[in-house]
Amino acid sequence: MKKLKAYEVREPDEGHSCIIFATNNATAHREGANELNVDWEGVEHCRRAAQFDTYAPGPVPSLVLIEHGWWFECHQCGRKIDEYMSCELEHEGLDPSDFTPCETGQMIFCCAACQAQFYAKRRANKAAKVALIELFEAKFPNCTIKDIHVYGAKLEPSEKGHGSKCSVSFLFPGAKYGATFEYGNSDLYVANGDVEAFREWAPTLSPLAPA
Ligand SMILES: [Zn+2]
Repeated sequence: MKKLKAYEVREPDEGHSCIIFATNNATAHREGANELNVDWEGVEHCRRAAQFDTYAPGPVPSLVLIEHGWWFECHQCGRKIDEYMSCELEHEGLDPSDFTPCETGQMIFCCAACQAQFYAKRRANKAAKVALIELFEAKFPNCTIKDIHVYGAKLEPSEKGHGSKCSVSFLFPGAKYGATFEYGNSDLYVANGDVEAFREWAPTLSPLAPA
């Protein structure tokens, strides 16, 4: 098997780059374009980055990339993380020793506090989903949940015009396409083709057209 080599692929519009491990430039070019969501011509350059060869087959840790002049945004607060972050923090009157960038998987955070906040939110989001399932199943037994969506860390009703915050899409008995329950809304959104089946299943509820 041919040895994988590191290539840096960059697109000019957003200025995003990625490191691709491949055996040749053409493959790296193609895979890099794919990862950056551009086509072949949309790649500004695809060139060898031998300094990252030791990380084959990838990924290269973000902290290593930063040492080589790359920058990222904190996954929680959006702060720019680069080799000059300490100067920037001092400039803002903050103590750089409170900010040690850390990474988990493909996510990087400017400090341990941001990382903790991110995971706390994610745990809260999971707990809210569990609560929503329990609530839904108590209210509508014998239904099959297709998908569940909770925006944010707690159950809250949607505001008009701001999209659905907490919802369950599901199949009720007799349904082909399904319906959507929105937390805080007593009516259900029902797919057009299921309105008749809905009336049979829940004669006391009024079906709304899907949003
Ligand atoms: Zn942060």
